[in-house]
Amino acid sequence: MDHVVFVGAGLAAAKAVERLRDEGYDGAVTVVGAEPHLPYERPPLSKDLLLGQQADPTVLAPGWWGEHGVTLHTGVRVTEIDRRGRRVRLDPGEWLDYDTLVLATGAEPRVPDLPGAGGALYLRTLEDGGRLLEVLRGGGRLAIVGAGWIGLEVAAAARSHDVEVTVLEAAVLPLAAVLGPELGRHLVELHRSHGVDLRTGVTVEAVLEDGVRTSDGVVEADHVLVAIGAVPAVGLAERAGLAVDGGIVVDERFRTSDANVLAIGDVANAMNTRLGRRLRVEHWDNAIRQGRAVADVLRGRDAVHDWLPYFYTDQFEFSMEYVGRSAPDDRVEIRGDRDANEFLAYWLAADDTVTAAMNVGVWDVNDRLRSMVGSRIAPADLPGPSGE
Ligand code: FAD
Repeated sequence: MDHVVFVGAGLAAAKAVERLRDEGYDGAVTVVGAEPHLPYERPPLSKDLLLGQQADPTVLAPGWWGEHGVTLHTGVRVTEIDRRGRRVRLDPGEWLDYDTLVLATGAEPRVPDLPGAGGALYLRTLEDGGRLLEVLRGGGRLAIVGAGWIGLEVAAAARSHDVEVTVLEAAVLPLAAVLGPELGRHLVELHRSHGVDLRTGVTVEAVLEDGVRTSDGVVEADHVLVAIGAVPAVGLAERAGLAVDGGIVVDERFRTSDANVLAIGDVANAMNTRLGRRLRVEHWDNAIRQGRAVADVLRGRDAVHDWLPYFYTDQFEFSMEYVGRSAPDDRVEIRGDRDANEFLAYWLAADDTVTAAMNVGVWDVNDRLRSMVGSRIAPADLPGPSGE
């Protein structure tokens, strides 16, 4: 039996090894993760955890690993891939042989090239989340650079601790490239109505000890969180000479430019046969789906990556699920009560093809929305929240 080695012990790797064992694969499996934790889910870090709610983000119970004969090294970084010798070097130096290598190294917060940026808070790990919770519990003023999903979720959590929050966004509207202008404005109004000082069209020039310097002057704050997106952790793959283009380039079966090396999760720029193009997706559901799918590939099943992207967010009373992938110039059709945050939104291409759909405060409809993506539907026929 082959020895499968996973680099990175995040959600994608955990879901892959779980599926391998569930489906009867009994070859040797090793997972090497740099963090000192069992694989855990990150979505609670900007939601439940910051709201002070108990949440166990561990993906597989501590006993699972021993019971299923999967070797897990935590707190161990892989520093080098020797593709010719089919082995990886572990920090601090010994080598581990593989037959098949799966890179699941995830992503890291984007650090802007600005004075003082190294001294800001970032949010990716359990430690980052714990530090931020302490900050929120301490009260005071928080400046958040970036009104993306994580920045806005943290802003909502911070308001529940009565923290004074200023969000600084360079674009004219937050998330407009994904949601379009109407829903971008909706998010601005939502946050402002909860006391978030959300400023758009503002360029941050420096992170200071007591705030941030912006194109509009200094914003004073006790703490600064930078949340301007993530970059895929491709360093290892690049040094090993694998094809990298905005993520590790893989085909629909997760194969890199080396047939013995695969990549999944946030780090993979994977061919999606449903969309007919490569896409790197930084979402929880993608890590789960690609983890399971790569396990099927490793077991020789005829699995391909054809699952439409899906993600969700919770901010104040705006809780939603989104499926598909819209283009910036798609038009948006809304059905239901936008002001009450109970509605469906559809993104339509010029020929009325549904490219994406979102349910806000309306549940158990996402599978129906998923089935509509890719179909041409006249706007008059787009159903509302109760299916009418
Ligand atoms: P990761 O979870 O990043 O795991 C990769 C692991 O690899 C890390 O532990 C890393 O330390 C390790 N690693 C990297 N390099 C090496 C190396 N050389 N050697 C050993 N180990 C290495 N998605 C949603 O859909 N909805 C949400 O609401 C949502 N909320 C989020 C909130 C936060 C705060 C964050 C950070 C992310 C959120 N996401 C959300 C995204 C989701 O968590 C990710 O898509 C998912 O974690 C990706 O899983 P992964 O296994 O690919 O990577």
